[in-house]
Amino acid sequence: MTTKKSLIELANNTTPCDDYDPNSMPVDQARQYIKSFLDPVEHKESINLHKALGRVLAQDIRATHNVPNHDNSAMDGYAFNAGDLNEGLTRLKVTGAIFAGNPLTGSFVKGACVRIMTGAAIPIGADTVIAQERVETLDDSIQFKDIPTRGANVRLTGEDLQAGQVVLNIGHRISPADLGLIASLGIGEVMVYRKLRVSFFSTGDELASIGSTLETGQVYDSNRYTLFGILSRMGVEIQDLGAIPDDPLLLEKTLIKAAESSDVILTSGGVSVGEADYMKQLLQKLGQVLFWKIAMKPGRPLAFGKIGNAHYFGLPGNPVAVMVTFYQFVRQAMLVLMGQPNPAPTPMLNVICTTPIRKLKGRTEFQRGILFASEDGNWEVKTTGNQSSGVLSSMSQANCFIVLNDDIGNVEAGATVKVQLFDGVI
Ligand code: AMP
Ligand code: MG
Repeated sequence: MTTKKSLIELANNTTPCDDYDPNSMPVDQARQYIKSFLDPVEHKESINLHKALGRVLAQDIRATHNVPNHDNSAMDGYAFNAGDLNEGLTRLKVTGAIFAGNPLTGSFVKGACVRIMTGAAIPIGADTVIAQERVETLDDSIQFKDIPTRGANVRLTGEDLQAGQVVLNIGHRISPADLGLIASLGIGEVMVYRKLRVSFFSTGDELASIGSTLETGQVYDSNRYTLFGILSRMGVEIQDLGAIPDDPLLLEKTLIKAAESSDVILTSGGVSVGEADYMKQLLQKLGQVLFWKIAMKPGRPLAFGKIGNAHYFGLPGNPVAVMVTFYQFVRQAMLVLMGQPNPAPTPMLNVICTTPIRKLKGRTEFQRGILFASEDGNWEVKTTGNQSSGVLSSMSQANCFIVLNDDIGNVEAGATVKVQLFDGVI
């Protein structure tokens, strides 16, 4: 195992990122710092395939047998031996029928053919299938209209997977397609990493809980609900520690409780300048935490570090900024912690933006976008309008982020922009 630098060393070590500036860190650099300081879960457990969706494999899955395990027909038609037609025959007698799961009774008669259904095993002696639409049936025989090439319409043994081959690698996160793939190998139990334990709480004196009446200056605590939704989709074990007022003692107690029982602690609020002071002292007392200003909008303040063995992410309080920072930093980090060493980056699509956008160079902006099918059938994007980081309704209207990198200034309508889909994440 490699020895990890402390977070403080990490922050002070400016190589290989010589342009490190603690006052305004580029998005990619923050991602790299986070990535270099993650300890994935190691504990494994064997679980039933039914429970495995979204879990990360702690073993390679190998093909237990060839798939398919016999040559079989890709069509409803007739199986025959192509060699027989070389002898000038264009008419073959039908001597039997084979259905999927019901092999031929008796043996294949040379110079004849058998009716065969999709998926049924090709009988020994036959090597080719002709689709039923391509022949004329005459009493008990078929007349060929055209001659297929040898091997046509036959799915060969092992064509999909060969026995012993690694089908899914350790560190792979199981999708619905993978469930089917694993089942197709006859495997009903898989070894996965244990679920990541994630605790979260909101901070702020102004937060009211649902069910109470709003006093002047109060807002309902919405961040815990968006985080609950996002984390539920990630398939982690969730501990909701509530809304905590800006009270150092209460915050300390909650952080200690979270650190004792979690792999990851997420908080929202309390990390922006002005507010950060006692949160900063507290976090530095309890662990090693860095406070960053990221060159991005929304989501400028971000805290990252460790409290005990738990990884800590201090997200900004603004409801939109919570989701942006989660998507841009926390999600990938959590996938690594779940046991995926190299999670696939979220796809970025280039599409035409139909609305003009005002944007300053020097920071990355994540504007809320609506990707829509235009009249000519191409996908285009428009903004949701007001991009203030408090406008939570913009996140509900949007289905993607329009990602405008540091070097991009104002965007004209009709220009191509990059978008990142929400689908499956937010
Ligand atoms: P902060 O980062 O704590 O300065 O909060 C920034 C803004 O986000 C303030 O307007 C807060 O009222 C708002 N905010 C903070 N936490 C929450 C929350 N849990 N739910 C809704 N709004 C919040
Ligand atoms: Mg606050």
